[in-house]
Formats: sequence, structure tokens, C-alpha cells
Amino acid sequence: MSRSEQLFQQAQLTIPGGVNSPVRAFKSVGGTPVFIDRADGAYLFDVDGNKYIDYVGSWGPMLLGHNHPAIREAVIKAAEKGLSFGAPCPAEITMAETVSELVPSMEMVRMVSSGTEATMSAIRLARGFTGRNSILKFEGCYHGHADSLLVKAGSGALTLGVPNSPGVPADFAKYTLTAEFNNIAQLEQMFAEHGADLACVIVEPVAGNMNCIAPVPGFLEALRRLCDQHGTVLIFDEVMTGFRVALGGAQAYYGIKPDLTTLGKIIGGGMPVGAFGGRRDIMQHIAPLGGVYQAGTLSGNPIAMAAGLAALTQIRKAGIYETLAAKTTQLISGIKQAADKTGIPLATAQVGGMFGLFFTAETQVTNYHQATRCDIDAFKRFFHLMLNKGVYLAPSAYEAGFLSLAHSDADLAQTIDAAEQSFKAL
Ligand code: PMP
Repeated sequence: MSRSEQLFQQAQLTIPGGVNSPVRAFKSVGGTPVFIDRADGAYLFDVDGNKYIDYVGSWGPMLLGHNHPAIREAVIKAAEKGLSFGAPCPAEITMAETVSELVPSMEMVRMVSSGTEATMSAIRLARGFTGRNSILKFEGCYHGHADSLLVKAGSGALTLGVPNSPGVPADFAKYTLTAEFNNIAQLEQMFAEHGADLACVIVEPVAGNMNCIAPVPGFLEALRRLCDQHGTVLIFDEVMTGFRVALGGAQAYYGIKPDLTTLGKIIGGGMPVGAFGGRRDIMQHIAPLGGVYQAGTLSGNPIAMAAGLAALTQIRKAGIYETLAAKTTQLISGIKQAADKTGIPLATAQVGGMFGLFFTAETQVTNYHQATRCDIDAFKRFFHLMLNKGVYLAPSAYEAGFLSLAHSDADLAQTIDAAEQSFKAL
């Protein structure tokens, strides 16, 4: 029995499912999760001494690669001055100013400790600001695990929300409306019927939690226009896309300005961090300025601020995003060529440094229903074949892939070669 198998058995005795976040358990691909001993650059090293080229990057934060020396050193230096103050510290101002500068729609910024907190707080703020109850989200988009966000569409396009997690009261869920990602006609209809009740629309501007799905031309524009017409707050959930698809996030990439933005992942450099921010007139409704309550014992934590600021200092250097996108294109086109050569139907997607692989004969996947129609069994087998060849992909067909600046040409070539061999073995 491998050390990972031993640890997984042991973990399951005291940790539900053996993991502290569900996808890590390999439930949707089968088998035993590998337990990680350490990570460096583009690589993960497991407790059995195996090395993997990593395309998960801790689910997004590791844009610079694992254990980047500048971030590590900033953390050590900050730790020497104390781990948490529960009082304001200068680094919080530098962080807010840096975020405002890089993402100009975020005129004011509040730091939190996770993406879930960021989206939950942004929605409360939108409700407090508008005095409305209902929110609209898109099927297949994930915004963390706050009650009102654990809702998927019912059978009809305009069905009111039904909770899809036990523990979420139907009375909460009824305020969450869902629509199809990329369906502009449905959006128009939704606003015509419910616009006056809608506090906010929350959207992943590039969906990264149903594999990777880019917005079709006009979709984000329609959202902006409809929100303006109906006095609805537009929230871009950029927890994943922020500092990933471009320095200014998806809003810079597509040139659409949301009212509020949520951030996480990269902004913490690997520490537990989230943020939300946006229009000054809206943000002024947050306590202690306004009545919308929101707080956090560890919010603006000095170690997390140091890590995040070190990450942002590195990624704002010239050429970083061009390099990242070029590396990602190199990988995705190589894998696609390997699939074509071996006769495996595969569609791909890429926006900047995030990508998707779909086992389907369709040329483009634009929504949740299409994503779920892909050959999930083929993905599972592909995942394990790749893992055995030293390539660590997200253990689910519904996750985007992430590249880092640490991935070398040799890493990409090795990955493409592993993909070709895996396709042949399918
Ligand atoms: N929003 C998006 C778009 C996400 O991808 C995630 C997490 N993957 C979250 C929110 C929640 O963030 P966290 O896991 O830090 O709570």
C-alpha cells in the first residue's frame, strides 16, 4: 500500500471524506488522492516521492509557480513582526491602493479571508444598497458555498430557485433565480419579468467551474446594459479570473465595468485571502460607514497582505500576461493536435492563463448543459493515465486548468507527449 493510500485511510477516520474540500477526494474520478509533501515551481511532490507537473496550481493562486522565493521571503519577513494584530496595519492600505490601481472599477476595497466570504458579502451589500431581495446567478457558475448561492436552475428556464444542497432552506433559495450562461435572449426575458426585484446579478465573466467557458460576444455587454436599465448591481466574481486572464482581470480583458468585483486566490499569493470592492457609492454602505454588516477576525491579516502584495509586485511586471497566455496556447494547441492525431474528439478553450479540455465532438462548449454532455468516462480514464505519467490535472471534468509562469517548454512538451500516449490508450 502506498503512503498516500495509508494516509487517505487514516484521514477518513477523523476528516469527513478524508479531505477538507470535497473535490480533493478524487470522488468524481475514482481512486486515491495523492497526498502532497511539498511543491516547487511547476511541480508537486507527493509523500511517495512522485513528482507531478501541476495544472491545478492550488486551484488558481499559483500563477508564479509554487513556493515562489519573493512570496516566501515576504511571508517570513512579515511573520517576524507578528502573525495577526486585530487592528489596522499599513500593508492593508497598500493592498487596497494596489487593487484599486490594477482594477480601477474597485474604487474601494474590503479584504476578507476567502472567495466565499467575498461573494457572500458582495451580495449582502447589493441587497442592502438596492433594498431588493432577489439575485440572479448562472447555471454551472460557482461562487463559493454561501446558502443563497448553492442553487441550480430548475427544469424550466425561468424557474425559481430550488436548493441543491441539503441544509439550505427553500425559503432562502427562492430568492436565487438562475439563468443559462451565454443565453442573451433568456436574460432579456428574465429582466423583463423580474428586473424590478433584482438586487444583483453575479457572474463568473469567464466560467471556470463547469470546465472553462468563455462568454460569447455580447453576453457581458447585455448584462451591463440590462443591469443599468433596471438599477441592478452587476457583480463580476473574479475570484478565479482576477489577475489570471489579464492583469486587470476579465473586466479588462473584455472591457466591461462591473459595479462590484470579488477577488480571491492570486490576490493572496497562496494565503487564505479574498476581497470585494467596487463603486464608492455602493461600498460606502458597508459597516462602519453604512449599515450593511460585514467583519472578520483575520481580515487584512498582515501575513496574507505581505504574501498578496509580493505576488502582485511580481505579476505586474511587463510581459507577464503575454508569456502566460503564449505558454497556455502552446499547451492547448499541442494537446489538441495530439487528440486529432489519435482520433479522440476533443474541444478546447482558453482565456489567458486558464484553459479547458472537453471530451466532445462539438467544436465549442458554451453552457452547462453542453458541458455535462461531454464524455465524462473518457475524462476519468484520461485523468488517471496522465497522473501515472506524472501530470496532475484537476480531478474533475468540471474544473478549469491553470498554467503558471514556472511551466517550462520542457514541462509543456512532456505534458503534450503524455497526452498523446494517454489518448492512444483510451
Ligand atoms: N468564486 C469563484 C469563481 C471560485 O472559483 C471560487 C472557488 N473556486 C469561489 C468563488 C470560492 O472561493 P473560496 O474557495 O476561496 O471560498
